[in-house]
Order: sequence, then C-alpha cells, then structure tokens
Amino acid sequence: MPIRDFFHRRGAGSPDIPDDLWARCGNERCRDLIYSREFEKNLRVCSKCEHHTRLSARARIAQLLDPNSFHEEDAELRPGDPLGFVSDGQPYRDKLADSREKTGLEEAVLCGTGRIEDVAMRALVADFGFMGASMGSVVGEKVARGVERSVQDRLPLVAVCASGGARMHEGIFSLMQMAKTAATLARLAEAQVPFFALLTDPTTGGVTASFAGLGDVLLAEPGALVGFAGPRVIEQITKQKLPPRAQRSEFQLEHGMIDLVVHRRDLRPTLGRLLRHYSPPTAYAAGGPSRNGKEA
Ligand SMILES: [Zn+2]
Repeated sequence: MPIRDFFHRRGAGSPDIPDDLWARCGNERCRDLIYSREFEKNLRVCSKCEHHTRLSARARIAQLLDPNSFHEEDAELRPGDPLGFVSDGQPYRDKLADSREKTGLEEAVLCGTGRIEDVAMRALVADFGFMGASMGSVVGEKVARGVERSVQDRLPLVAVCASGGARMHEGIFSLMQMAKTAATLARLAEAQVPFFALLTDPTTGGVTASFAGLGDVLLAEPGALVGFAGPRVIEQITKQKLPPRAQRSEFQLEHGMIDLVVHRRDLRPTLGRLLRHYSPPTAYAAGGPSRNGKEA
C-alpha cells in the first residue's frame, strides 16, 4: 500500500502522526491530505485541486518579497475603541486582544518597505485572521500613511488585499476610512506613482469599494471571492439566482472588473515585471534599489 494511502486511512490527528506532518486542503469539495513540506513548497496551493489557501500577512510577505527585505512602518499603531462597542456580550477590546494573540499582529494590515525581484517598493498586506481583515480606523490610517509616504518617496505601492469589509465595531469611524484611503490614492495617482492591488480570497465590502478597487492594475488569485456584497446577500436582496462562480476572480476578469488572474507561483515574477515596467525612474535613482547595481 502506498504510504500516502496508509495515512489517508489513518487520517491526520491520529496519535501516531505529528499534527504538523500533514495539512488538509481548505476546499470543501477536495479536503485532500497534503504532506506539509510539499504544501509549503507549493506555496500552500493544493496540488490536487489548485485551491489557494489563505495566507497570514507574514506568510504572504515571506512568499512575495525578497528575503529579509521587509522593513515595517507604523508598527506601533494600535486600534482604540471609540464607541465602547459590545456585540453578543463581547466587548470589542476583548475581540482585539484575542486577534492580537491569535495572529501576533497589532492590527489587520502590515505596512512597510521591501523589494520584489530587487525592485524597491512599499507593501500593504492584509491578514484575514485578524477580525476578517475588516477596515477600522487604524487599518485605514496605516493604508493612508503608506500611500502618503509613497507620494513623498515615490516608492511604487503593492497592496495585498483581503477583507470582510468595514469594521462595524467602529461604526462611522470605519466608513470614513473609505473616503480617506481613496483621497490619498488620488494624490498618489497625481504624483504618477504606480499602485498595484492584489485581491485575495476574500476581498469584499468597503475595502473593495475603496483602496482595493483603485489599483492601476488589479490582480487576483485564482478562485478568490472578489466583490462588494457576498453572493448570498445579493441573492437574498435581488431574489435572483446568481450564475455559478459569480464573484470569483475568473468571473470578475471576464466581466472587466479586474485585469489579471495570476497563480500564486507566478505572482512574484508578474509583480516584478509590473514594477519594472511602471516604476518612475526617480524611484531607482533615489533609493538605489538595485543592491547589485544591475538595471532593475
Ligand atoms: Zn484541494
């Protein structure tokens, strides 16, 4: 019996098998057991069904950016609780503390400078594990500050987006972030500094409707849910059945909402090419982005 079948029968979680030896595909229709090392090598994409597993912000940075090139900015910004919000008996402050503990992050987005294929850039990376990467005032502030810095230092911007939408726990302070991030991006466009948005599963709500939708080039991972409201909400409101795979990235590509659907293994070279093609020459001259002096 092939060893893989043996483990299939026993299943992960058996006392004889270390928990981290196998990973399970997150696709409900697949649920294949994958050897963890192979899974990591495959950038956490299922080799059987090509399902792209959601990544933490740190894992995404490790996959996408050049090794050790990420330097975090605004790491000290922490969300407050302006409304003293409580939902289902749980205070917002406690939810934040839980998310902090679970993810090791202060908020649902990381901002910092780095390099992709040796081209200097600034990255904004969302972590869906932190309260569904919902956009509260600090997420919006970090995005806006990152954009403003790029207006100043002309570093091209790459946002890796994921979000369940605005953070209801902060009420109107959350909704204000849509206008704020969109306004700063208008200044970035005026300054002719490129902005690439990579939409990952799921990118929805106020984030899609603000900074995530404003990329000069909109890329998405295969199969990612990309849209404003989710399909179930749309069906409930319109009383119409949506076509299969509606609001998945391939559907959005066919209907002109995004520009490219890119497999995870091709993201680095694709972003590298885009950065080289669109980056303003000053970004090369000022920052000396090519460590080895070659033409970036
Ligand atoms: Zn799978």
